[in-house]
Amino acid sequence: MSLTKGYAAQVANGKLEPWEFERREVGANDISIDIEFAGICHSDIHQVNEEWGEAIFPMVPGHEIVGTVVAVGSNVTKFKVGDVAGVGCFVDSCGTCEYCLDGNDHWCLDNSAYTYNGMERDGVTPTYGGYSKNVVVKADYALHVPANLDRAGAAPLLCAGITTFSPLRHWNAGPGKKVAVMGLGGLGHMAVKLAVAMGAEVTVMSHSEGKREDALAMGAKNFVVTSDKEELKKLANTFDLIINTVSAEIEIRRYIGTLRQWGSLVVVGAPGKPYSIDGSILMGRQLSLSGSNIGSIKETQEMLDFCGEHNIVSDIEIIPASAINEAYERVLASDVRYRFVIDTATI
Ligand code: NAP
Ligand code: ZN
Repeated sequence: MSLTKGYAAQVANGKLEPWEFERREVGANDISIDIEFAGICHSDIHQVNEEWGEAIFPMVPGHEIVGTVVAVGSNVTKFKVGDVAGVGCFVDSCGTCEYCLDGNDHWCLDNSAYTYNGMERDGVTPTYGGYSKNVVVKADYALHVPANLDRAGAAPLLCAGITTFSPLRHWNAGPGKKVAVMGLGGLGHMAVKLAVAMGAEVTVMSHSEGKREDALAMGAKNFVVTSDKEELKKLANTFDLIINTVSAEIEIRRYIGTLRQWGSLVVVGAPGKPYSIDGSILMGRQLSLSGSNIGSIKETQEMLDFCGEHNIVSDIEIIPASAINEAYERVLASDVRYRFVIDTATI
């Protein structure tokens, strides 16, 4: 075991404060990464505040991790010392269930290990995330970050990037498709950049008028302020696909009305509260309400390579670790442009 430093919440709703804890020794299949940057995902806030059910404390959040490989286990060929590596939302899975065998290890049926607020597959060792100086993970669950991408800007790709890339790909965003993105935050702005790069025509649906210029600069063709009910009504029967990244409770039926035939509204935002919907609004044009959860290791690498090819990174504000609590407040106020990334050298 080796001691490392991080920022942890000691209790539910607690402030993030400096904390020292142990990382395991580097096993034969592991790599050790000296973390340089860690993104702040809204999921970190939901989990620290225990909005998704029972959470494990102390909690070191962070599942958007980029750093340099400083040690490799004897069996590892995927990485060498000095490589840039990323870690996303999960760090292990069973490898033998139908989904793992099918390349969908993020849906593992048997005890997968989330990067933090979870347990290793032994069921007793808690996992601690990226708001820290170092992490030891199985090499198979780490990703290669393309060399041309800014490392800090690439960190949010490990969650915000893959969480939006996966449904955009699954529901065939591309030329000739009209895609709407609900909420221009961390996930939302990645959805815009990725969908634009895939060739779709993108509309942003936001409750923050002040984000209009940014949305258009990211390549969106249209920007709609959702507080104006008439604006959404005008878009009835328009979109093939809607990616809902909103972190709060909303009236989802207002948005479903903007789908055109066979369209799907994909929920990725996770407010931890139910949506209220009358199923009959899905019937008319064979519409779907669907969901998507992060993405597999394989697809995460495809997403990173796609971002490398298209030179896509997140728009970020780099902060010292001492500003994490303030950053949480700003995320909750939808005042993030568009992802906070912790410079872990400041821990
Ligand atoms: P974020 O940066 O806070 O973005 C959320 C956006 O939602 C805000 O910027 C805001 O955009 C909009 N919003 C917030 N409150 C609203 C309200 N009351 N009414 C209408 N719109 C509101 O959060 P994020 O990190 O992108 O995460 C978004 C959600 O996705 C979170 O719930 C997170 O837990 C979840 N998530 C899910 C997955 C998954 O695998 N499914 C992965 C990661 C995150 P505007 O200002 O533009 O309106
Ligand atoms: Zn996340």
